[in-house]
Amino acid sequence: MTPAEFRRAGYQVIDRIAAYRERIANLPVLSRLKPGELRAQLPASPPAQAEQFEAILADLDHIIMPGLSHWQHPRFFGYFPANATLASALGDFLSTGLGQLGLNWQSSPALTELEEAMTDWLRQMVGLSENWHGVIQDTASTSTLVALLCAREHTSSYSLSRGGLQAEERPLIIYTSAQSHSSVEKAALLAGFGRANLRLIDTDEAHAMRPDLLAEAAQADLAAGARPCAVVATTGTTATTALDPIEAVAAVCREHRLWLHVDAAMAGSAMILPECRWMWQGIEAADSLGLNPHKWLGVAFDSSLFYVRDPQHLVRVMSTNPSYLQTAADTQAKNYRDWGIPLGRRFRALKLWFLIRLEGVEGLQARLRRDIANARWLAEQVDATPGWTRLAPVPLQTVCLRHEPPGLTGEALDAHTLKWVGQINASGAAYLTPAVLNGRWMVRVSIGAEPTERQDVEALWGLMQEVTQAKS
Ligand SMILES: *Cc1c(COP(=O)(O)O)cnc(C)c1O
Repeated sequence: MTPAEFRRAGYQVIDRIAAYRERIANLPVLSRLKPGELRAQLPASPPAQAEQFEAILADLDHIIMPGLSHWQHPRFFGYFPANATLASALGDFLSTGLGQLGLNWQSSPALTELEEAMTDWLRQMVGLSENWHGVIQDTASTSTLVALLCAREHTSSYSLSRGGLQAEERPLIIYTSAQSHSSVEKAALLAGFGRANLRLIDTDEAHAMRPDLLAEAAQADLAAGARPCAVVATTGTTATTALDPIEAVAAVCREHRLWLHVDAAMAGSAMILPECRWMWQGIEAADSLGLNPHKWLGVAFDSSLFYVRDPQHLVRVMSTNPSYLQTAADTQAKNYRDWGIPLGRRFRALKLWFLIRLEGVEGLQARLRRDIANARWLAEQVDATPGWTRLAPVPLQTVCLRHEPPGLTGEALDAHTLKWVGQINASGAAYLTPAVLNGRWMVRVSIGAEPTERQDVEALWGLMQEVTQAKS
């Protein structure tokens, strides 16, 4: 494809995306495809001869589009908001179109220096001190893995330069809450700690980690001859947006010299609102922190920020320095390859730059405030309506609820819950993801897709009442 051909085809792609966003509200939120149905429409083997661009566009319309579930739909209330704002999409196109690859500073000076600037802008936006230094990773899963690798090498005094974890005399222990994200368990296992050395600390009635139980667990492990190593606390858990008490957890960490990583993948975006910062009170005492602008904030996937307070330690854990990557600029510039796992990196900072400049911090703040107000409105309706129960506090944009008809308990209640959610999802009018909390199914209403307005939340509330009142 020549640049001239690209220009012609590229405008059509932009038109497709714009038209999609314009009509998205009229589409069923969830794809109606059955497993295997799309695959069956694709040729089994690749074409030997070049095809026309128009033929691909036609297949995009007929084969691919029906296979999309619409995360950018105003009535998408599933999982978490994963806003791909069009402002950030433009930055993403450029990142790809300019074909940059960061290996070291010299391989793309702009890639490194814009990333330095954007991680610092975001640091200021979420109210962190200058003691934090950031890098852009792909996902929070990676950030947590890198954090636990840092923790492992911190507690073991760089065991990787000796026999590694396999040569440690005492097992290293990781603590997290029973409500933390599955990626924490995955990171602990991949970092070599072993399931037997992962402690899930119980939570209080607001589903937040109990620091007293954390302290007890660390004491018990010490007494048993193990070495407490790290705590992963969560600001905004996945099921209910529960807030682990960072300050109290940090006090336990200080006492036992534990690494403290804070997973704020979802809720971190809300820290651009000064009125939300109490939620991670004590954050300055953490060692590392992850937050995903690719969720609520609106940067097109993927964009996960990882901050550490001691970049030298991070670099010592992560760096290798083969001759072919060494350049004269190494002593004066940051080499982000030493700040994470992959060597090559995309120009991810561009989409943050576009989003922040095109919407402004105040614009982003206004959108998040709108979403929080919508969630509070829904929580008030649930609280005021007989037959409905709210199951968790609503500090942010997720409302956890259940419809509980009189006399319905246990598995019958689970069946009722899954049935009405299934009806809403199958209708295409909205999308909700149920989850298990304290052993029972409940429904999470996650508000905060970019186009979601009050009227969409009102429509959902009406729909929920309708499907639960219909006689089955
Ligand atoms: C979404 C989420 C994750 C996982 O995020 P990825 O970037 O997809 O790895 C981890 N922890 C929390 C609290 C989350 O909300």
